[in-house]
Amino acid sequence: KHSMKTCNQFVAAFEEVIKKPKKKRSKTYYTGIDLGTACVVLAVLDENHVPVAGAYRYADVVRDGMVIDYIGAVELVRELKEEIEQTLKTELVYAAASLPPGTDELDGGVIKNVVQSAGFELTNLLDEPTAANQLLEITDGAVVDIGGGTTGISIVENGQVVKVADEATGGTHLSLVIAGAYKLTFEAAEKYKRNGKNHDELLTSLKPVIEKISSIIIQQTQGYKVEGIYLVGGTACLKNIETIIEKTTGIPTYKPMNPMFVTPLGIAMSC
Ligand code: ATP
Repeated sequence: KHSMKTCNQFVAAFEEVIKKPKKKRSKTYYTGIDLGTACVVLAVLDENHVPVAGAYRYADVVRDGMVIDYIGAVELVRELKEEIEQTLKTELVYAAASLPPGTDELDGGVIKNVVQSAGFELTNLLDEPTAANQLLEITDGAVVDIGGGTTGISIVENGQVVKVADEATGGTHLSLVIAGAYKLTFEAAEKYKRNGKNHDELLTSLKPVIEKISSIIIQQTQGYKVEGIYLVGGTACLKNIETIIEKTTGIPTYKPMNPMFVTPLGIAMSC
């Protein structure tokens, strides 16, 4: 049975420093940059790989893993960088970033340019599931990244990503269902969905879409030895989504304390 303890301790430490950065000096700092569809996250670790600061912002600069607003992305990363630099009273130099699996040739250059134009020196560019696995430390299982537009399934065998797939069902579809059921605009439905207080009530109407995500997982993991499903990504924040996925796939399903922060922290660790 996989233990989420180390991963959760790391995420908890990161959540703390987002609120209150650690001011203790470090010789060097490592920044992980996660450019997501809904959210851009910067995670900063010190020389001992301990989280010291972080910042994130909801933004519309990436869609389905592709940078659609280059200038906006650069400005946002620069803004978050400066925000952290002011609180830490230091300059952040080194950064790593990630790509959705399978898009490196198309978008790798763009992400590299975003990071460099924002004033960083890019030290590593890796795929998202490999980044997430720096924290999850799975040897055999599937990292399931439920984002906005898509669900990414990455199969890990002996600690290595051996297969990736990306299918067009994610949080956006959940928001569309909420918008329809509650007669809300898409934006209002998104906001309603992100509020954890509404999760219990929402689960019944969202169940069919979650079951659809489960059927995608079943399809994509067929023929592989998958001992566990590890949920990451913004949509995994939905309370009890792991219970439905575990029940419908029949595979033990684990969810870290904050599934949004696993990938950015893993990126920073690889810096
Ligand atoms: P994509 O897969 O489209 O590239 P992404 O990986 O960039 O997306 P994430 O930032 O991981 O996306 O997740 C975005 C999704 O997570 C959005 O649909 C958003 O509404 C949803 N989300 C964020 N926070 C929560 C929350 N607390 N509860 C439920 N859903 C949430």
